[in-house]
Amino acid sequence: MLHLEKSAAAFAEAQTLMPGGVNSPVRSYNRIGCPPPFIAWAKGSTICDIDGNQYIDYVGSWGPIIVGHAHPRVVKALQEAATRGTSYGAPTLIESQLAKLVKEIYPSIEKLRMVNSGTEATMSAIRAARGYTGRDKIVKFIGCYHGHGDSLLVKAGSGAATFGQPDSPGVTAGTAKDTLTVAYNDADAFRELMDRCGDDIAAVIVEPIAGNMGLVLPEEGYLQLLRDETQKHGTVLIFDEVMCGFRTALHGAQSIYHIVPDMTTLGKIIGGGLPVAAYGGRKDIMDCVSPAGQVYQAGTLSGNPLAMAAGLETLRLITEDPDYIEKACAKTKILTDGLKDAAAQAGAAVQVHRAGTMFSVFFSAVPVTNYATSEASDQDAFRRYFLSMLEQGIYLAPSQFETNFVSGAHSDEDIARTVKAAETAFRAARG
Ligand code: PMP
Repeated sequence: MLHLEKSAAAFAEAQTLMPGGVNSPVRSYNRIGCPPPFIAWAKGSTICDIDGNQYIDYVGSWGPIIVGHAHPRVVKALQEAATRGTSYGAPTLIESQLAKLVKEIYPSIEKLRMVNSGTEATMSAIRAARGYTGRDKIVKFIGCYHGHGDSLLVKAGSGAATFGQPDSPGVTAGTAKDTLTVAYNDADAFRELMDRCGDDIAAVIVEPIAGNMGLVLPEEGYLQLLRDETQKHGTVLIFDEVMCGFRTALHGAQSIYHIVPDMTTLGKIIGGGLPVAAYGGRKDIMDCVSPAGQVYQAGTLSGNPLAMAAGLETLRLITEDPDYIEKACAKTKILTDGLKDAAAQAGAAVQVHRAGTMFSVFFSAVPVTNYATSEASDQDAFRRYFLSMLEQGIYLAPSQFETNFVSGAHSDEDIARTVKAAETAFRAARG
């Protein structure tokens, strides 16, 4: 049995201070049935809570930790940056260094702007697309999550799905009416929507590899359809690669599926664990952004020197070794192959999905291709599996509507231990 006494006490106090005791909903574990481990430290692939339990971490801060926790080079870059001051609110060389590297990795990005969170990136990308096109409406896909900007909290995934709040109170009807939604992977529904109102649509925003309804991959030809239809109607196609960027492949989902979007949003990994995200894309669209253009967007801490330092060092680490990401992907494949075998042995009906270094397990006998099929999978079985894994020292995302992440710091032994634990957990899942 796990000992979480200190975490339980810390959580009780936190609940008097913060809504639900947390600063981001999914951390609260309240569909799981145990207190969330409060974290004391993390190093490499290990994360340790305040009760002293050590786990193999597959959350990786929900994606950013691609080189493992507290990588010595990232720590050194941060220490050196901190001695030069924490923020100036003025241009620095390192912002251009990071921007240049991001552009090299993502050739579809001609110009970009650094912001502080994925939410800001998608919100700002949409504003730029609206400013550029002079249109109001946008399209998003049911179960995709693009942060908590008002116009994107409509039929949203991730925590919004976990807590049964895909449409949030507080988003006005006026705002929500400009967000049209359609099922992910439903080619006919998308074509029909674009036929009906494509010329009024400023932007189509999509997680090209969806990670916020669990991990759901695009079906063959689907992203090309989005590209073709948006091109036809002069609609801006935004690939939200905040989560899948760099880690499904170094050059992102757009490189895997050979699609050039008009705009891309990035986050998580480009900050190396500090609050950084970016939006960018075609020069003619980005030049609409202030002060080059009229679309206003700003940030006191945008391009913060500590955050840039962590991001730059992280991107250097994953590009210096040209096989860095591919090796982590190969490790992830060993893991997901092992999970499939373990489930088969335990007689658990699951769908194990992988894209690069991302993976998730659905307790479903039928293929999961969209939000409806993800939602229909067995949440109780997932909860039992999750708790068994946690007890065995495997720290997974605590919801069926989330994805797990492998880093370059996960060892072969970590992977083998995880598969071994899953053999027990899949039996536990059967109840
Ligand atoms: N877009 C995607 C695809 C995401 O997965 C997330 C967060 N998980 C966001 C945007 C929002 O990012 P943030 O939490 O940094 O605001």
